[in-house]
Amino acid sequence: MSQVRVRFAPSPTGFFHIGSARTALFNWLYAKHTGGQFILRVEDTDKERNTDEALKVLMEGMRWLGLDWDEGPEIGGDYGPYFQSQRQSIYDSYLEILKNKGRIYEKDGAQWFKLEGERYLEYDDFKKAEVEKVHNTPVIIDDAVRGRVERTEDRDFVIIRSNGEPVFHFVNVVDDIAMGITHVIRGEDHLSNTSKHVELFKALDAEPPVFAHIPLILKESGPGKMSKRDKGALIEDYAARGFVSEALRNYICLLGWNPKDEEEKMTIERIIERFDFDGINKGNARFDETKLASLNADYIRELPLEELIDLAMPVLSEAQCVDSSVNVDYLKSVFLLCQPKMKSLETLAEYVDYFFKEDFEFDPKASARIKKGEDAKQLLNEVLAVFEDKTIYVSEDLEAELKQIAESMGRKLFAYFPVLRLATSGRSGGPDLLPMLSVMGPDRVKARLNAFLKGTDF
Ligand code: GLU
Repeated sequence: MSQVRVRFAPSPTGFFHIGSARTALFNWLYAKHTGGQFILRVEDTDKERNTDEALKVLMEGMRWLGLDWDEGPEIGGDYGPYFQSQRQSIYDSYLEILKNKGRIYEKDGAQWFKLEGERYLEYDDFKKAEVEKVHNTPVIIDDAVRGRVERTEDRDFVIIRSNGEPVFHFVNVVDDIAMGITHVIRGEDHLSNTSKHVELFKALDAEPPVFAHIPLILKESGPGKMSKRDKGALIEDYAARGFVSEALRNYICLLGWNPKDEEEKMTIERIIERFDFDGINKGNARFDETKLASLNADYIRELPLEELIDLAMPVLSEAQCVDSSVNVDYLKSVFLLCQPKMKSLETLAEYVDYFFKEDFEFDPKASARIKKGEDAKQLLNEVLAVFEDKTIYVSEDLEAELKQIAESMGRKLFAYFPVLRLATSGRSGGPDLLPMLSVMGPDRVKARLNAFLKGTDF
């Protein structure tokens, strides 16, 4: 077989919807899997909506997801231009071919594509008039996902509107022919257009590509497609929320494709190796925020420290948790400590703010519980010296000394932990306590313990 050439052919709208991203991703995966070419073609015939800004959102989203294209805007290629708005002369020449074959006629200012077959009149209930129909042979589509689909086109259709604008069906097919597209992978909503497209391919003496129509993405609950208003629908939001792009990409792969015998968390190399049409489901996919969040958490925990910090810094400075004056070594040690328990970057500022701020909040529930329990002041006073007389904290040393005190007082070691944690972080939970105190270091810890002891609301 000749080299695979697939394309993603969006009409930029100003949003990069997860459904479009999935179409782009499946095309990209198929190109990578087969060693083919992935083309980005911009279907920008609607001039109102197709602004530069809209294109920018789309290209940034694709690049963020790592979906680089082999031909298209900013890259070029042998089959350009890659904007439909710049391909008018190509459409004119294909229209000429159809005209020469007697397949075009004009009616009401529009150019119609004429089907082959005998004509007859039939009463149309909707139009309340007789309309001309065509006895036409059915179009058979061997869809790589849906299987065999049969559909008969029995009415001529417009391919150039009376205002001169070409219709989607025509330009889409012309471009697929002119760009040598071998496989059309697109949303199932286009399946109903495909018989028209096949008629055009035939009329232009071109072999139709292989079609693969991929299932819809339903919203998290209830019926209906995921719309741009649904939470989680827009790729640009995920970047702003600090998602790991590889995690989102991994998740989108699973929206309609199923590796069956494998873990769902897979490297992109593994997905490329496994990706094929037979793994694409016929049934609709459903967006599942919990699954995405847990996949994202897995990726966060595995990120190299430097990458995690790069991803987290904008989120933390946005939340005014850190600024550029932060000590980098301290920042690294905090991240090293907290990474194994991180769930998302959206909740990160909340999770780590007390490492960086002295005016952290005390959780009222934890405060009330601990102050009400065994004499918290007494407990702290028993162990204060352990923290006072050191210039560096090593968690094993702290543990050994605290254990000794605990034994001499007839207590368990853990008796001291809740109040130590509360006094130094304002919380009842977080990273392991003694490693946490050793990361915070003596200056911070001593100051906090003393401030807590002096606190008037004890
Ligand atoms: N511009 C069309 C869309 O965004 C392309 C359809 C196709 O892939 O053929 O839905």
